[in-house]
This record gives sequence, structure tokens and C-alpha cells, in this order.
Amino acid sequence: MDTIDLATGVPDIDSPQSAAAAAVEAISRGDTRYVGAAGIAPLREAISRSLRERGLAYDPSQIMVAAGAKLSVFCVLSALIKPGSNVVVPVPHYGGYRGHVEQLGGRLVGLTTTPDTGYKVTGAQLRDALDDETSVVLLNSPANPSGAVYTAEELAALADVVLNHSSAIVLSDEIYSRFVYDGLAAHSIGSLGPEILARTITIDGVSKAYGMTGWRVGYAAGPKAVIDVARRVHASLCNCASSISQWAALGALTGTPQNHHDVRRHQQLRDLSNAVVERWRGIRTVKPSGAIYQLIELVPEELGIAPGDGRSFFETWASRARVSIAHNGRFGDPVFGRLTFSVPRPELEEGLGRLSAALEELADTNQLSFGKGTMR
Ligand code: PMP
Repeated sequence: MDTIDLATGVPDIDSPQSAAAAAVEAISRGDTRYVGAAGIAPLREAISRSLRERGLAYDPSQIMVAAGAKLSVFCVLSALIKPGSNVVVPVPHYGGYRGHVEQLGGRLVGLTTTPDTGYKVTGAQLRDALDDETSVVLLNSPANPSGAVYTAEELAALADVVLNHSSAIVLSDEIYSRFVYDGLAAHSIGSLGPEILARTITIDGVSKAYGMTGWRVGYAAGPKAVIDVARRVHASLCNCASSISQWAALGALTGTPQNHHDVRRHQQLRDLSNAVVERWRGIRTVKPSGAIYQLIELVPEELGIAPGDGRSFFETWASRARVSIAHNGRFGDPVFGRLTFSVPRPELEEGLGRLSAALEELADTNQLSFGKGTMR
């Protein structure tokens, strides 16, 4: 095998047949024109039903379908922040957020998390970070890249802080809500009560749950006033998400078994990846409770590198192993990298084996001299 790609954010799942069939029907029927920036009504109705199953009461008029969850986040942030606004987000975080916030002239305020709290932000930490400039608190559970899943109690603590100490809106990115392991549940912060629901925008989509990243369909659900502005931003950027893809998404939501993404298989891949990575020297991780990624946190003092050298360390390691790893400081700090375990098992085994060997080799040949500081 040439280079093995463990950097991708694409789950190893095919789009469901029900999606493909609905798309073909839409084309044959001629449902191929602009459909309006909010998205087609039957899809918004299906989304509203599926959100209700998660305890989130959003009317179809409170939902906007956009070309992906990423664009949904951008449109909502455009509605919520102005130059100088603060957007608070736990670190490590999904790489897409920083670009969005900076393009809009906002300031990303990162809250560093550690393995002690399972890379989750606490109520006390959030309270310290909130100020009058805070417009948005961005949460992502199950999380990319750490796999952290917040419990209902942890979310309730964060909701309390937001409600009592700020006028911020919570942007809850739940794109990995289907990927939870060990019998845990993915809780939605907006399901915890009407007060927090009124201050929450929930983001989700079909990209990950149904293996439909290329169709480009995601959505935002929240207070109508915010969604209406987000919809106008969406209209100004691209009119609407592809009509064909929206029919495909409806086909996926209504005609696909709940377990299309095969949680059991994903949990086994997670077990494999975690068992290998937790043995690596100079690396911190947590067992992912959700999503499709294994976090890699470099411990500079153990690896003998300077904290800012994370990027060159990952580059050397990945090129020696011939395995691509996601990093580049895009998770909020150069010490963070990420492996995707949602790949065919033989590729995962081979990729992890190569990374293990390359890490040992880097230590043994004294290229890095773990702990001795030769790369400083
Ligand atoms: N949010 C998070 C946390 C993600 O990981 C991703 C994809 N990597 C997205 C949003 C974007 O999803 P989409 O492809 O639907 O735009």
C-alpha cells in the first residue's frame, strides 16, 4: 500500500440506496430548479421530526438547509457575530471554525482542555471565559477531533453558565450525533429545557451519519429570528443547496435503517485504534466515546521538541510512516493531531503499525531522542 490516508474526515460508509433512488427520481421529475434558501419543505419537515426524536422541538420554519453543515455554521455565525465579537470554543476543536470566525472579523477564544476532563470544558472554565463581547459559545459533542461526548449533566452545567452569566448563543454542532460508543447517548444541549433551547442553534446534516459528504446537505435549527438572517446570508452566497441533493437527503432520512453507519463496526475500529495509540510514548490521547477520530496530543517535553514544533514533528513522523495524519495546528494548537479510524480494518491495522514503527524508529535512532531535547 502506498500512503495510507488516516487524515480524512470522511466516514467509511456508502450513501444509502434510498438517497441515490430519491436523487434519480428528482432528476427524472425535473425537480432541478432553485428551491429557496430555507430548503425544500418535505426535508425540513423530516428534519423537524428527527430532531424531535432527540428531544429538540424545532418547527420546520426554524430550520434552514444549506450546502453542508460547514456552510450552515458559517451562515449562522454571520447572523450572530460582528467584528470584535468573541466566539468561545474548547481546544482542541474542529478546524473549520477558526476560518469562519476570522472571516467575519470575530475573535476565537480557545479554552484549553486536557485528558483529566476527557478534553471537555467545565462550567467553571466557561464562566471565566465569558464576557460582554461573547456572542457565541461553540460546542461540538461528539467532538472532532477528541471523540469527547458530554453527558447530560455536563451540558446542564454549561447551559446554566450561559443562561446566568451571558447573553451568548450556543452553537451546538452535533454532526457526529449518530457515532457514540459503549452504550452512551449523544445528548443535545437544546433538549435540556425551553430556556436553553431558545438560546441554542443546533447543527447537523447527512454528511457523516449517512456517508453523504459529497452531496453537500447540512442544516441549522434555532430561534426563527436568527435562522431568518442566516437564510438571507445563505441566499446571498449560493441561493440554495442543490435541489437534487436535498431530495437525496430526504430519501436518506426517511428510507434508511437507523444503524446504516454500523455503530458496532465503528466501535470495534475505535477499540483497535485506541489500544494501539494509548501505548505510544510521548503521546496523550483519550478513548474516543464518539465521532470517528482518535486524538493525538504530542507531549513536547517527553518528545524532546519545543511546543511550537508540533507541525514539523507530525510531518516527519507521517512521511516516515507513509501515513497521512490531520494536524497543521488546525485543531487550535500544533500539538494536536488526529487519526480517522473509520477506514477499512486492514488499512487501519497497517497504518497504525507503520505509525508505531516510525515513532519507535524516531526514538531509537536518536533523531528525536525522547526527552533529551535534540530538536529544541
Ligand atoms: N462540523 C464538524 C465538527 C465536522 O467535523 C465537519 C466535517 N469534518 C463539519 C462540521 C462539516 O460537515 P459538512 O461536510 O456537512 O459540511
